[in-house]
Amino acid sequence: MALINENYLRLSENYFYTEMDKRINAFCVTHPKANVIQLGTGDVSQPLPPAVVSAMTDALNELSQKDTFRGYGPGQGYKFLREKIVKDYQTHGVSLSTEEVFVSDGAKTDAANIGHIFGRDNIIAITDPVYPVYENATIMSGRAGYHNENGKWSNIVYLNCLAENGFKPVIPSEKIDVIYLCYPNNPTGTVLTRQELKVWVDYALENHSLIIYDGAYEAYITEKDVPHSIYEIKGAKKVAVEIRSFSKTAGFTGLRCSYTIVPKDLIAFTSEGEKVQLNRLWMRRQTTCFNGNSYIVQRGAEAVFSKEGRKQVNETVQYYLTNAGIIRDELRNLGFEVYGGVNSPYVWAKTKNGEESWSFFQRMLCEINVVSTPGVGFGPNGEGYTRFSGFNSRENTMEAVERMKNWR
Ligand SMILES: *Cc1c(COP(=O)(O)O)cnc(C)c1O
Repeated sequence: MALINENYLRLSENYFYTEMDKRINAFCVTHPKANVIQLGTGDVSQPLPPAVVSAMTDALNELSQKDTFRGYGPGQGYKFLREKIVKDYQTHGVSLSTEEVFVSDGAKTDAANIGHIFGRDNIIAITDPVYPVYENATIMSGRAGYHNENGKWSNIVYLNCLAENGFKPVIPSEKIDVIYLCYPNNPTGTVLTRQELKVWVDYALENHSLIIYDGAYEAYITEKDVPHSIYEIKGAKKVAVEIRSFSKTAGFTGLRCSYTIVPKDLIAFTSEGEKVQLNRLWMRRQTTCFNGNSYIVQRGAEAVFSKEGRKQVNETVQYYLTNAGIIRDELRNLGFEVYGGVNSPYVWAKTKNGEESWSFFQRMLCEINVVSTPGVGFGPNGEGYTRFSGFNSRENTMEAVERMKNWR
């Protein structure tokens, strides 16, 4: 008899995005002439940088010729790409070796799969609100404990991110072993300064905890005192894994390429208290369960670090940031309390008069045909908030903002 991993049955239905789509579709069916503008999405809209396309075309040509054909690549990623990543870190004063860089096909993939190398009994901490992958992966792995009536899991520590603390988590009183942090944050668009991130690194050093730092939006950082990498903080190599992606940076959401840094200094413990290098475990995991991303995609990713590539990527990031700024300014004009949109493509807005997330969603959809993502989809603390993104085109962003001006 084949048995299933019953933890999958304990996941809540993928209710949230299904519900959003259902409501949008229902509206479009009854209002076929309406031009609905999506400002909720976490997906990019602008095409790939020309430098990336050109590098991938060359790579495809290489694979088309007998003399330059390549089959399987290294499971850790091609060295040409890992070298460029190492150089990129150097620009922020972080020195890594290529052996500490693991190329992958998605930050989401790695944020979920990294759990393979950790013991069952870790207490995991996530923020509330949060990018949902960290919690779902924890549940699937059987580490979440049991589900309380309040919708929370017994072995997960929820770090409250509230308006009164600028949506920044504070060190909890419970002991925590593995902490997921994502900055610049999705969904709130907020950041941690160097000093604020240092508090977490110091906590991890003192308590032998591990931080999984999701830096998917690193390219959106505009302010000086915001660290681009957790490794800018002293001691972080001993306690942190950092995950980055080309998705939101260079339009790779459909193409797929990311990387994870697992420093050689990073250790965790056996139940006997013996130290083990995580780099070694992750190497073993990746070479066993993953055969590397495609050569073509990795050549495309390499081109992101070329002179033209950087310029093109930067222009697109600025384009999204300008959109986010347009949304933020207009919401503020309209009297909304807003966060983010400065070091992030996301603007996090509080609804007025305590209106619930879904009610706001429905009203904005029906009355001005604009969509944002209900904050409650990211956790209970997201109730009463909504997430706008700057990822749509400028034209659509302007049109949506115009509609909001005349909206009551
Ligand atoms: C979009 C996003 C990712 C996903 O990145 P992929 O590389 O496309 O899998 C990871 N983390 C956060 C916080 C994101 O918003």
